[in-house]
Amino acid sequence: MFENSDRTNLNELGEFGLIDHLTQSIQLTQKSTVKGIGDDAAVLDFANKKTLISTDLLLENVHFDLRYVPLKHLGYKAIQVNLSDIYAMNGIASQVTISIGLSSKFPLEAVEEIYEGALLACQNYNVDLVGGDTSTSQQGLVLSVTSIGYADTDAIAYRSGAQEGDLICVSGDLGGAYVGLQLLEREKQIFLENPNIQPDLEGKDYIIERQLKPEARKDIVELLASLDIKPHAMIDVSDGLASEILHICKASNVGCKLYEEKIPLDPMTYETAREFGLDPTVCALSGGEDYELLFTVPQSDYDKVKNQMEITVIGHITEAAAGYQLISKSGNVHDIKAQGWNAFKSEE
Ligand code: ADP
Ligand code: MG
Repeated sequence: MFENSDRTNLNELGEFGLIDHLTQSIQLTQKSTVKGIGDDAAVLDFANKKTLISTDLLLENVHFDLRYVPLKHLGYKAIQVNLSDIYAMNGIASQVTISIGLSSKFPLEAVEEIYEGALLACQNYNVDLVGGDTSTSQQGLVLSVTSIGYADTDAIAYRSGAQEGDLICVSGDLGGAYVGLQLLEREKQIFLENPNIQPDLEGKDYIIERQLKPEARKDIVELLASLDIKPHAMIDVSDGLASEILHICKASNVGCKLYEEKIPLDPMTYETAREFGLDPTVCALSGGEDYELLFTVPQSDYDKVKNQMEITVIGHITEAAAGYQLISKSGNVHDIKAQGWNAFKSEE
């Protein structure tokens, strides 16, 4: 991964030296951060807001593959996927912590790249890095990110708030991250068979970025606030549309009707899925890792959302007894089942 001459062994710095090195340039920007790195605990003050906390654990070869994920992207994505959970509560993220387990194969330069990506994400999304933990790992890279945010009590959007008659909305477009992963997996196989062949990802930037460099939808939380919309229920799309809408429906004790023709797909996602012999709708339903926001709003908000480029109405909430329905382009009714990303993969 790194040439020998560019490698600085982590033992040369020691744990405290490494932490200092990685965090020395951090500048705190959030007024809710009273104390960041450097004591036994960070101190935060959210005054009269509710505090939101979410954690993710990322393990090498379970959640990411360093053969095609650049370390800087890994750091960036680790922060994004975690911030996404705060936005999915209709909150604003303000702090993160990063814990990292490093095996001896990682030189300082590798850790620096991960932090470069992570700190760029923090900067772009206006959050403070306020702590973490550092350890050696027997095998592989371990990354855990905790994000912290805030919201007004009555602004928080739970999965359980959907009501019969609500419009089901989704931000951006779906399926791209999964199709991007297929492309990266294919190029990895070709590379493993013949390392002299350069990856052919020409013209596929959008879906590769959807996989390697997702952007959490802070902008949607801000847009909804500016439109004076309080989503009844919200979740982020990490496992695919099917799985997420079922989470909302089950938590809210309601049913749903989704229309296949309304599901937003980017043209590159559509074409590339076809090249792989995949159904683009299935990629949106079961692909995952899109990190868009799926939410429900009362019908009376239709006029507010209908002309928003970044929001698509894809169906509505029904009574629980009507079940979970997907109306296909040809008008057939299908049951929506949660396949999730893993189930989908094992079908191959
Ligand atoms: P402790 O012994 O209490 O766990 P550490 O020496 O591990 O303390 O950490 C010292 C400070 O550095 C703490 O503020 C901690 O949050 C921070 N820290 C440790 N590791 C990391 C890391 N990987 N990234 C960011 N901050 C870190
Ligand atoms: Mg520690």
